Amino acid sequence: MQKFYDVIIVGAGPAGLSCSITLVKNKKTCLVLECGADVNGTICGDGLSVHSITLLGKLGIDIEKLGGKKVKNKKEYFNGSVRTVKFSDVFCLDFELGVSRDALNNSLLNYAISCGVPIFLNTPCHSISRQKDNTFLVNDTFIANRVVLACGVPGGKRFGLSYPVDLPFGISSRIIGSCPLDDNSFHYFYSDALGNGYAWVFPVDDNTWNVGVWSQNKCKNLAKTYSQLEKNYFGSANIIYERKPKGRIIGAGNGTKIDTKGYICIGDCNLDASMSSGEGVSYALESGIQAALLLVNGNQIPEA
Ligand SMILES: Cc1cc2nc3c(=O)[nH]c(=O)nc-3n(C[C@H](O)[C@H](O)[C@H](O)COP(=O)(O)OP(=O)(O)OC[C@H]3O[C@@H](n4cnc5c(N)ncnc54)[C@H](O)[C@@H]3O)c2cc1C
Repeated sequence: MQKFYDVIIVGAGPAGLSCSITLVKNKKTCLVLECGADVNGTICGDGLSVHSITLLGKLGIDIEKLGGKKVKNKKEYFNGSVRTVKFSDVFCLDFELGVSRDALNNSLLNYAISCGVPIFLNTPCHSISRQKDNTFLVNDTFIANRVVLACGVPGGKRFGLSYPVDLPFGISSRIIGSCPLDDNSFHYFYSDALGNGYAWVFPVDDNTWNVGVWSQNKCKNLAKTYSQLEKNYFGSANIIYERKPKGRIIGAGNGTKIDTKGYICIGDCNLDASMSSGEGVSYALESGIQAALLLVNGNQIPEA
């Protein structure tokens, strides 16, 4: 028999889970469909901004339990020259804490389950169709009044929605081991060669590092820059990866939009904001909470 929900959410990333938690706390029924067997392995920078931490706290996540590493200094390298700033001395919006994204995702997942959100892992959403009564039939099995797409940046077409292809791109990894240049700093590299973008190395705990690079421009040197950075900090032999270097398109959206097909798009799926601030997680959380509250209050959601 087909099961009915107020809302079906596609994707159990920060956007989908923050939306689901807010919905069930406000007495709406929802179902989350996640194609992965778990929520580990997201390619990202592992950095949480002040705003992300505030939003996670408001949702009910215990930040202390996330672990992570608070860094003291920010070392900024501009085309070779360097300056060091104390975090406490700068108003640093875009970085507060290095936390393994797996830890964050699992914490959100477990908290959502504890709030009563049904989450189906290993369940890709492969079809959505609008029925005569305006409800949505998902995977020919589930029915809902509304569908929220929180499935990240696809880099192509998904459910009939097309996405721009000239989006920023990033590469990152998590490396286990001691870093010879460890000075408990967040290392930030700007270079003309990267165009609008930067590279980074920072700790996510005492023994694990996030290393990465991104650029807004179609930057041919991204993989080369990543390899050079990794080599400079960790040498070239016996690198132990917790997550191997991989790249993906960077989306980032902080708004909530309803697309022409009637789907509500949140987080990276929404593609509403620039990634230059490194705030993807906070945008995802913000748009998830916003979408849920709009649905709870029966407010109109802006059209794309
Ligand atoms: C290299 C790089 C570095 C970054 N660094 C940072 C950083 O340091 N700090 C920061 O805040 N942000 C960072 N970001 C951005 C951040 O990772 C994203 O903005 C954030 O993950 C968006 O969350 P989301 O929930 O919208 O999407 P995602 O986290 O991508 O989650 C989408 C979920 O949907 C699932 N899914 C996809 N398709 C389907 C389907 N058909 N059916 C069911 N499930 C599906 C996926 O498996 C996934 O679990 C970085 C991004 C990149 C690429």
